[in-house]
Amino acid sequence: MDWSEGETVLGDTRDGCHHAHAHAHVHAHGTNLSQQPKKRPLMDDSSSWDIVKASQFGVLERCKELVEAGYDVTQPDKENVTLLHWAAINNRLELVQYYVSKGAVVDQLGGDLSSTPLHWAIRQGHLPMVIHLTRYGADPSVADGEGYRALHLAILFQHLAIAAYLMAKGQEVDGPDSNGQTPLMLAAQKIIGPEPTNFLIKNDASVSAVDKVNRNTPLHCAVLAGNVDAAHILLEAGASVDAENVNGHTPIDLAHQVHSPLLVHMLTHIRQERIQTGSRCLRTVSRYKVFLQFLLCTATFGSAGAILDMDSESWLLKGSLLCCLMGVVNLISRRFGTSAFRSLLPASTLMASVFWMLVTWCVWFLPDGPSTTLQALFALTATGLLYYYLRTCRTDPGVVRATEEEKKKVGKNVLVLAEAGCLDPRIFCTSCMSKKPMRSSHCFCCDACVARQDHHSIWTNCCIGARNHRYFVLFLFFLMLTGAWMFYGCVTCERLHLFRVCDGGVV
Ligand SMILES: [Zn+2]
Ligand SMILES: [Zn+2]
Repeated sequence: MDWSEGETVLGDTRDGCHHAHAHAHVHAHGTNLSQQPKKRPLMDDSSSWDIVKASQFGVLERCKELVEAGYDVTQPDKENVTLLHWAAINNRLELVQYYVSKGAVVDQLGGDLSSTPLHWAIRQGHLPMVIHLTRYGADPSVADGEGYRALHLAILFQHLAIAAYLMAKGQEVDGPDSNGQTPLMLAAQKIIGPEPTNFLIKNDASVSAVDKVNRNTPLHCAVLAGNVDAAHILLEAGASVDAENVNGHTPIDLAHQVHSPLLVHMLTHIRQERIQTGSRCLRTVSRYKVFLQFLLCTATFGSAGAILDMDSESWLLKGSLLCCLMGVVNLISRRFGTSAFRSLLPASTLMASVFWMLVTWCVWFLPDGPSTTLQALFALTATGLLYYYLRTCRTDPGVVRATEEEKKKVGKNVLVLAEAGCLDPRIFCTSCMSKKPMRSSHCFCCDACVARQDHHSIWTNCCIGARNHRYFVLFLFFLMLTGAWMFYGCVTCERLHLFRVCDGGVV
């Protein structure tokens, strides 16, 4: 972090006690009550400051002056916070070096949560300070008052670069905290969203570990917290849906208890899917899933259109037929609806719609004989639409893939990279464990960093990035044109029909 302008400091003297108290109530959801930025009073004369304020603002000269005058650096203030804590939480590297040289205890517990300076630095996400303190012998396995060790805090506060550094320093990814919970359990329970669960899974965290109190697995934790994203990742990683905790409850039982229909559906579905994995039918379906889903969507749209277009005047009949159709589609998607199948659904729907648009034009509009020019123009639009759709899907959007060798190399060099300041989240992706190019971001659907990523399009089932951006824009343009042509076709057709009906009436 750049401290040169608009410097923020945690807890100045007036606020010191308040801060120490607030720090005790830092939440695990990434919000931090203690973060009350204060502009550095530049005009303030630091020569009159007490040592706590001077430590917070990192005024080395003033601190030296006071220590030389006899201030004991090991002495905690009335909140039981030491100078090293204040220097650590404000990322004052030079001060930490000075205090340690003067005999400050690196792993001193302090504050309401009885945490070490290392814990404070981790909560604030100061990787340089974490490296610095570790060099001076700070022990990452010390637990704070809530039982969290260094790695657990890094995960809870979602500082994944720090977590990667601590693991490279030898902290076990499945090391339990004082309550017997692994970092993965905490991530699944307390952090809503795919990260840091995904990060831990990639670092080989165990999905079958159980805590010592309730014997809950990470999946139990995710279900209890209603954390759908984390549950999804854990299931993909092979977490068991039948594991029982100390009360004999499986994750499915817990999903019923927390009244989450989505989780119940997800877990029962996975269980069925796992039972059926051997079935030949399902294997065939997954091999031809793109084609089969396109057929299903096309058939559904066609049937719905045919029902609505029926000669019968009875809306009751049409309504019941539509309900039957919905029932059949529902049955089929329940039977074969794997997650891969579902992720393709929007793309198949779009393609089926385009198919029926073309059919409508050829079967209903063409016989009415629009001029050859119009026909040629429509054919051009339709070709453009299909061509640019395929180009968008087929072109690599700019995926930045590190090879397995590169990943291994990075894995071995995390310490070197961290110490060189290269684990900055802006230039390093902790999901891919590789350096990411400028303006790229990580896509969790594609599980890769994509150069100049715009978004992940569900309609093409791929990312829109640097290389396929223009094709996507052209696809949208032709889609709009096709829509306009269809509208034109409808209006013309309707008019012709009315004319014929009137004509017929007269004759
Ligand atoms: Zn990435
Ligand atoms: Zn994507």
